[in-house]
This record gives sequence, C-alpha cells and structure tokens, in this order.
Amino acid sequence: MNREEAIEQIKSLREELEQYNHEYHVLDQPSVSDYQYDMKMQELLKLEEEHPDLVTSDSPSQRVGGEPLDAFQKVQHTIPMLSLGNAFNEDELREFDRRVREGVGVDEDVSYVCELKIDGLAISLRYEDGVFTQGATRGDGTTGEDITQNLRTIKSIPLRIKEEETIEVRGEAFMPHRSFIALNEAREESEEEPFANPRNAAAGSLRQLDPKIAASRNLDIFLYGVGQWDAGELESHSERLEYMQKLGFKTNPEWKKCPTIEDVIDYVNTWTESRENLNYEIDGIVIKVDNLDQQEELGFTAKNPRWAIAYKFPAEEAITKITDIELSV
Ligand code: NAD
Repeated sequence: MNREEAIEQIKSLREELEQYNHEYHVLDQPSVSDYQYDMKMQELLKLEEEHPDLVTSDSPSQRVGGEPLDAFQKVQHTIPMLSLGNAFNEDELREFDRRVREGVGVDEDVSYVCELKIDGLAISLRYEDGVFTQGATRGDGTTGEDITQNLRTIKSIPLRIKEEETIEVRGEAFMPHRSFIALNEAREESEEEPFANPRNAAAGSLRQLDPKIAASRNLDIFLYGVGQWDAGELESHSERLEYMQKLGFKTNPEWKKCPTIEDVIDYVNTWTESRENLNYEIDGIVIKVDNLDQQEELGFTAKNPRWAIAYKFPAEEAITKITDIELSV
C-alpha cells in the first residue's frame, strides 16, 4: 500500500471505529461483534505504526471509551481510568513479557498476576473515611458519569468498609447469566428489544436515571484495582487484592500468581477451555506485573499501562463466520 492509499485507509478506519465506539460506549447498542471491532483496530494500529507521522491525538487508537452522557453529573477521575493493550495469541503474550523484561532490566525477576477479564462496565468507587461516597463510570477515561445511586443498588458493594480509609477502588460491574436471561425473557414478553449481550445490559442498566431500574436488574461487581490509594504501603498487586478483600470488597476468586509467562499461557489455556462453566461472561484474561515498583517503572502509554495486557479469547461469532466462509469457498 502506498502512502496515499494508507492515508485513505486510515481515514476510513477511523471513521468506522468512531461510529462503532459511539454505538458501543454511548448507546450500549453495538452493530458489529467485538472481534470485528478488534480486527479493524489492529489494522489501524498496524498502519499507524508503519506511518507514525499520521498518528493524531484524536485517533480511536489513542482514545479510551466514549463520551459521558449529559444526563448524569460528570466526575473528573483524579487518576485516569485507562484501557488495556490487547494480545490475541501466545506469541503476543511472549512479546509482552519480552517488553516488560526489557523495561525493568533483564536481571530482574518479573512475576505476573492473571485475572479473568470480566465483560461488563468499568467503574470506580470512592470511599471517604470508610464510607461509600461516589461511584462513577470510566467514560472517556478522564471524565466519567456519576452513577452513585445506581451503584448503591448492587448488594455486593459495601456501603461502609472495615477500615476508615479514604480510597478509590476500581472494578467491573456485570450482569450474571441468570439475570441476563431473565431480563431478556421479560423484555421479549413485553415486546421490548432484548439486549445484545450481558455487557450491554449491565451498561444500559447502570446508565438509567431511575435507580429502581438498576435495582431490579440483579447486577454484581468484582473489584480488581485501585485509583487514589492512601491505604498504606503494599508491595504488590496481589497484596492489594488480598487487602481489598479484607476491607470487604468482592474480588474475583480465580486470580492466580504466575511466576513465568509459560504459567500465564497455561492459565489462559485453562480458562479458554473452562470459561463456559462460569455464571458470568468473560472475554479474556488480564495479565498484570505483580510488583508495584516495577509497574511504576514501566509506566503508561497515552491509553494503556505498559505493565498489563488483555488477552482476548477468539470470538465464537468470528469462528462461525470463518467456518461459513470456508464452507462456501
Ligand atoms: P478492553 O476491553 O480491551 O480492556 C480494558 C477493560 O477491561 C478495562 O477498562 C476494564 O473495564 C476491563 N476489565 C475486566 N476485567 C478486568 C480485570 N480483571 N483487570 C483489569 N481490567 C479489567 O478495552 P476497553 O477500552 O474497555 O474496550 C475496548 C473493547 O471493547 C474493544 O477491544 C472491543 O472488544 C470492545 N468494543 C466493541 C465495540 C463493538 O462495536 N462491538 C465497539 C467498541 C469497543
């Protein structure tokens, strides 16, 4: 592809991705599968890597999420809520490991924590002196929506934690399979459009102005990280997860420490096989450098931490489509 063609293709991919972002993050109504979106994004990233002078700050490759809805009060995140870089196969996981080791110095040991990537809505919860005061969506990463009243209806969110800490924790609100099936059955009965998937149902429920609607949707939450954190010195992400659980937050029990990238790959393969047994949706595995000093050393790009990556499962719809194409050839 010559430069002129690359410019045209980049323009067209950006327009398309912007449209998909709006449908997914703002309207909660995607028109393409995540796999189709991810492949277009990969194509854009590749073209931008080949032509770095064409990267602009408003490119979808540089932006997190979507615009917050005007119906809600805006919340400025003191520490941005970022997205994650993606890996789609073992080679890309090994490449991530190589970059991390290079970043912290080849002599240092690096150990990882693997977590299930819950397919829901990223939110932040703020506690002042141990009391839940504000809950917000990620929004565009810097500005989110104040959805405190809706989050209060999720029973697994503690309204008071076990220490009088002032902290902000982050996690994923989601709709368990059982609630999703019941909701869509009820919607079909009342001739309303069913939700495309549990992720959109969770996002749609939490961005309702009437908290009674969110309360009726049986949502749940797993907390997996922190924003502002004045709760003493801890050395690793795994210690933070344990401490969060002690404070009364619901963390996902399936996380695991993985001393090498081969252990990470084993964990990924295990969950690729057994994710069907969970009673909630996951769309991948998140891999994080465990040591917090190393995390700090690695830092962030404009959109992602360099110390974490999301491995994405191959999408089932995509597999069906490939099979369809193969059959029709
Ligand atoms: P992402 O899905 O690649 O990953 C980042 C998010 O993972 C975090 O913000 C957090 O919300 C979530 N997460 C879940 N469990 C986690 C854990 N244990 N630790 C840390 N984070 C965890 O990135 P994104 O910015 O949220 O969304 C982009 C993705 O959304 C795309 O890759 C695509 O799959 C999907 N998308 C789809 C469409 C569409 O039209 N179908 C449009 C836009 C985006």
